Parts: sequence; C-alpha cells; structure tokens
Amino acid sequence: MGKKMEADVIVIGGGASGITAAVAAAEKDASVIVIEKGQTTGGAANMGMGFFAVESKYQKAQMVDLTKEAAFRFFMEYTHWRVDARLVRRYMEQSADTIDWVESMGLQFLGAYKYFEKSFPTWHVVKTQGSNAPAERAASNLFRTLTQRAEELEVEICYNTKANKILFEDGRVSGVEITTADGETQDALCSAVIVATGGFGDNPKMIKDNMGFTWGEDLHSFRIPGVVGDGLNMMWAAGAAKSQPVMELTYTSPGVTDVFKTLSETMRQPGLMVNLDGLRFINEEIMNNTVYTGNAISRQRKKVAYTIIDDSILDGYRAKGLDYITFHHNVKTVDKWEDELKKYLAGEVEESGLSALHSKEQREKMCLVVADTLEELCEKTGISVDNLKKTIEEYNEASTSEDTRFFKPHRYIKPLRGGKLYACAHYPAGYGSLGGVVVNDKMEVLDADGFKIPGLYSCGTDACGIFGDSYCFLLPGNTMGFAVNSGRIAGYEALDYVDNEWA
Ligand SMILES: Cc1cc2nc3c(=O)[nH]c(=O)nc-3n(C[C@H](O)[C@H](O)[C@H](O)COP(=O)(O)OP(=O)(O)OC[C@H]3O[C@@H](n4cnc5c(N)ncnc54)[C@H](O)[C@@H]3O)c2cc1C
Repeated sequence: MGKKMEADVIVIGGGASGITAAVAAAEKDASVIVIEKGQTTGGAANMGMGFFAVESKYQKAQMVDLTKEAAFRFFMEYTHWRVDARLVRRYMEQSADTIDWVESMGLQFLGAYKYFEKSFPTWHVVKTQGSNAPAERAASNLFRTLTQRAEELEVEICYNTKANKILFEDGRVSGVEITTADGETQDALCSAVIVATGGFGDNPKMIKDNMGFTWGEDLHSFRIPGVVGDGLNMMWAAGAAKSQPVMELTYTSPGVTDVFKTLSETMRQPGLMVNLDGLRFINEEIMNNTVYTGNAISRQRKKVAYTIIDDSILDGYRAKGLDYITFHHNVKTVDKWEDELKKYLAGEVEESGLSALHSKEQREKMCLVVADTLEELCEKTGISVDNLKKTIEEYNEASTSEDTRFFKPHRYIKPLRGGKLYACAHYPAGYGSLGGVVVNDKMEVLDADGFKIPGLYSCGTDACGIFGDSYCFLLPGNTMGFAVNSGRIAGYEALDYVDNEWA
C-alpha cells in the first residue's frame, strides 16, 4: 500500500484549468493534490498561444476600446442568452486581473491580438523567452510558470496517476479513487474535488454518441492523447446533470492543413467554395472565422466542401500576395507553392509545428486534387460537373458585377480564367469537445434538480457550456481564457467550501 494521500482539495487533471485551480487554492493556504494521468501539466493548452482577457493593461496600452460591458453584451447576444450570464460576467470581470496574476509569477505577454480581421483583439499571446515573435505552443510557458508556482506552494502533483472515481460519504465528496504510476489502486481523501479532465476530444465513440460525427470520416479534429472523457463520466456517474456537449468546431484539409502551409493557406483564401453538388453555400469572406466555416461545411452532403482555384488565380497571388494571412502561420506569398505541391503529390509529408498533432492517417490523406479540365476535377472529387459549370459561370459573371448570391465583397471574387485547376477538400475539424456538465458561477457541479453536489467542482473544457452551440471565435482566446479563469474560480470556491461549509 502506497503512502496515505489526503488534502483539502484534490484536482483531477493538471491541464490548463486544473493547474490554475491548484495554484489558486494553494495560494489561499489550501493543501492541494493534483492527479495527472500524463507526464506533464498544461494538457492540450501547451499547443496553444494565448488566452482571452478584456480591459487588460495591454489592451489599454494598445488603445483597444472594448470594455467589459461591451464584451459581455456582445457575448450574450451571440449566445442568445441561452448560457449562464452570471458565469460569463464573472469570467470576463476576472479576466484582466488573471493577466496581472500570471505576470506576477514571472510570465510575459506579447500583447493582445485579433485572430482574424473582424474579431476583437482579446487574444493575449504569451511571450517566449528571448523572442518577440509569436510562436506556436507559446502557451506552454504559462503552464511551466504555473507549475513552478504550484511547486513553491507545495502542491503535490502526482504524474502518471489516473483518477477513476469520485468518492462520497454522507452525500458529500470525500475523495478520489486513483491508480498510481506503479499500478496500485487506492483512495485519496479530501473535502472537495475539482474535475478538470479536458473533455473527450480523443474519444471517437463519445464524439459519435454525443455529436454525431464519425471521427476520421466526417470529422478530423485534433486528438490530444488522454483526453477521453474520464472526468465527465465520473461526474455523470456521481449524479451531475448533463449538458449538451459540442465540438469546438473548425475546418481542415487532412494531409494539407498545418502540414504544407503554403498549399493550405492558399486553399483557405476567400475564393470559390462549393459542395459536392457543385453549389456555393457560403459567403467565403467569412472563411477566416473557422467556426462559422466549420458549421457551414457540417451542413453539406457528406460534410465536405471544396475550394477551387486555377493558374490564373495563382498568378494573381504571385503578383499581389494572399488576401488572408493568419497570425499563427504568417504565410503571405505563394513562393513555396510549386515546391510544396511537388512534395505533396509525391506523397512526402512535411513535419512542421502543429502537423505533429495530426494522426498518420490524417497526414497521408490526399485532399488536394490537380486537373487539366473541369471534367477531370469532378471525376476526381465527385463534384457534380453540370452544376459546377453553372456555378463557375455565375461566379465569373459576379466578378464583373456583384455577388448577388451571398454578397461577398468584390475584391475577393477572383474569376477562374484558365490553366490547371486545383481543388481542396475541407472537412469539419476542431480543437476538442466543449461542455458536458452543468455548473453555476461558483463552478459547483449541479445535479438534475439544479442543486449543487456538495464538494464537487468542475472547470475548463468539462464545464465549458458558455458558448452555446458554437465557440465564439470573434472574441479569440476564449477556450483557454475560460479554462484558466474557471480554474481560478473553482480553486477559490472549493477552498471557501472547505473552510466555511464542510466543517
Ligand atoms: C492545437 C491547439 C491549439 C490551441 N490553442 C488555443 C489558443 O491559442 N487559445 C485558446 O483559448 N485555446 C486554445 N486551445 C484550446 C485549449 O487548449 C483548451 O481550451 C484547454 O487546454 C482546456 O483546458 P482543460 O484544463 O479543460 O483541459 P486540458 O488542458 O486538455 O487538460 C486536461 C488534463 O486532464 C488530464 N486527465 C484526463 N483524464 C484524467 C484522469 N482520469 N486522471 C488524471 N488526469 C486526467 C489530461 O492528461 C490533461 O493533462 C487549443 C487547443 C489545441 C488542441
């Protein structure tokens, strides 16, 4: 039998929200144990770059005039008031202070950024030491900092240790059954548990059961290893009310996106996009809002859509550069198009940044098609040739007048005038799941009757029901923002419960 484990608060999952909750509770003098089944803290958020805040000192210095009130009003309009207004308000109210809080531990930020043109600059991108350039995975610095702080505060972080079950005595939380690194199963005792296991982005069965997508066919989301729904299953088993989980939806071209950056960014420009019926279904201007685009693609037959360009359009990009440039990939020209296309068609896979997160099958999938004629393109993709011909006629016509179909701004309507044709398939994708249990603004987990389950808290993705049906990319950095801030709230509230209600 291993050593007896006992603390005021046990946090299940040492990812973005869990490690934050642990520091928050420990700073207020709680004894805290973190149970983490992986080998590191930070979870999926180590792949990210930064998080949401409003009215931060960075925004003030950058003369961003978005107020907490305006952000709150915008958010509640976006979600049609179907989400917990008290929690949204509390999260936003705390968000700027959280920037100062982590800075007081030694972290630095590059500033507050937009994710795309029409979004707000709420994404506080973490600075990597010795560099002023935005870097993929920069947020891992945040979790290194929080982990050091947790260690200073004597939080016991148990790596390679899995939580199996939440234990109860007299109707309130009393501990967690865990399996330690050496395979031993034991009970760890506590007065409050915070569940922060990051949802179920790595569990195709739960994705199918809860959201209807078939992973690998009509969904190609990131699968961060180990995020398989453990916490949600434990909480549901303990009587937690279930809320409808959703995907934090985006879109992707397996084998192209994140792998061949120039090919990918070129085929994600706001040009012509059609479904398998050869019909436009989107004002492609919104393609840089990856959530909206993912939603629109999900509505199409077989949940797939194609962007189509030709050599004449490529020549335009050669002369003037790309229209949409993303902050994280920063590809401005098509200089590498030929080189990448050659490698892509030869089946070579480039390893770069986030591509490592795609599975082998995803990276080997061939989504980009080259053809000499429309007939050949349709043969290769399955797009209806008759309809596509009509769509291209209508689209080319719009380039000389206007897009009366979807009102796309004229500058993005580039006619297809000739040369080789290129089509790229786009499928729904995502960062992971969102939500699953009902919580209140103290991050207390509620039962089916709306009453709190004494001593049970949840934060981060497991508890992230604040976006309703669609993640709000217009206020970027919001999932990690919610993770970190809900973790902080859960840490404080769990300790308050231990101090004032439990005894
Ligand atoms: C590629 C990528 C980039 C991203 N970039 C951004 C960004 O820039 N900004 C943004 O806002 N969001 C971003 N996100 C989303 C962000 O990472 C998540 O919102 C955040 O990680 C959620 O935090 P969490 O604590 O809920 O889960 P996680 O951070 O995933 O942590 C969950 C932890 O729980 C552990 N765990 C699971 N089950 C158990 C168990 N039974 N016992 C013990 N431990 C367990 C896991 O090992 C993991 O460490 C990105 C996501 C991805 C995939």
